[in-house]
Amino acid sequence: MAKPVALITGASHGIGKQMALTFASHGYDLILNYSSSAAAAAEVAASCEALGASVLSVQCNVADYAAVGAMVNQSLSTFGTIDVLINNAGITKDNLILRMKESDFDDVIAVNLKGSFNTIQHVSKTMLRNKKGRIINLSSVIGLLGNAGQANYAASKGGLIALTKSVAREFASRGITVNAIAPGFIQTKMTDALSDDVKASVLTQIPLARFGQPEDIAYTALFLASDQASYITGQVIAVDGGMAM
Ligand code: NAP
Repeated sequence: MAKPVALITGASHGIGKQMALTFASHGYDLILNYSSSAAAAAEVAASCEALGASVLSVQCNVADYAAVGAMVNQSLSTFGTIDVLINNAGITKDNLILRMKESDFDDVIAVNLKGSFNTIQHVSKTMLRNKKGRIINLSSVIGLLGNAGQANYAASKGGLIALTKSVAREFASRGITVNAIAPGFIQTKMTDALSDDVKASVLTQIPLARFGQPEDIAYTALFLASDQASYITGQVIAVDGGMAM
């Protein structure tokens, strides 16, 4: 039987990398997208192949609608279908609202929110034909709670929750589920960039009193992609050590 195929955006580092490894070791073939880290992406692809997955690695800026269309066409030429779409690619450009450059607001919305619209619109045509599919969007605890210094990021991640619920309603009758994961603070290069003071202050807000690991998010995505999650749609699953309970 053909293996299920998952497209993961932003798979060269952090959470996306771990999702690639976890899905590869659970019987998926993979389309692994990255933006600029070609060497890191090649390493992830080789590790996934060593775990038994067939892998197509594609450089593409998810904010570029036409480029996403070309990536999806290339994916379909290679694998014939896409069963799972994980919108994981994301960036931060933090600053207080009064100091935030207009371009920093636009860039974050373009990658984190519009990028997910781009992939959903291109990939869902195949899912609609198949009457089957799983779409998983990486939101954030910041999209639920807001955060000083992250108005652009919070808006993009809150917008992603609204996008998730709307598309879930549109696709529910077509066998496609659409859910969001809202990670708390997960140890990746995105959070490594925070100062020690900020990290210490964040820790005081986490009931489980530790940062999460990429595996915590990868296994949540693996479950949402599975047949066992077929009755879950339009939900935001917080994986945050209790931050947003
Ligand atoms: P990360 O380590 O910084 O990795 C980000 C990934 O996104 C990289 O693979 C990067 O690829 C890719 N990417 C960035 N811009 C892209 C673009 N325009 N097109 C395609 N790919 C692009 O981040 P992370 O911590 O793993 O975060 C992954 C997702 O989880 C993000 O959506 C983030 O907002 C969300 N999240 C993370 C945390 C956390 O604590 N880490 C918490 C909540 C939510 P290149 O290296 O090739 O540019």
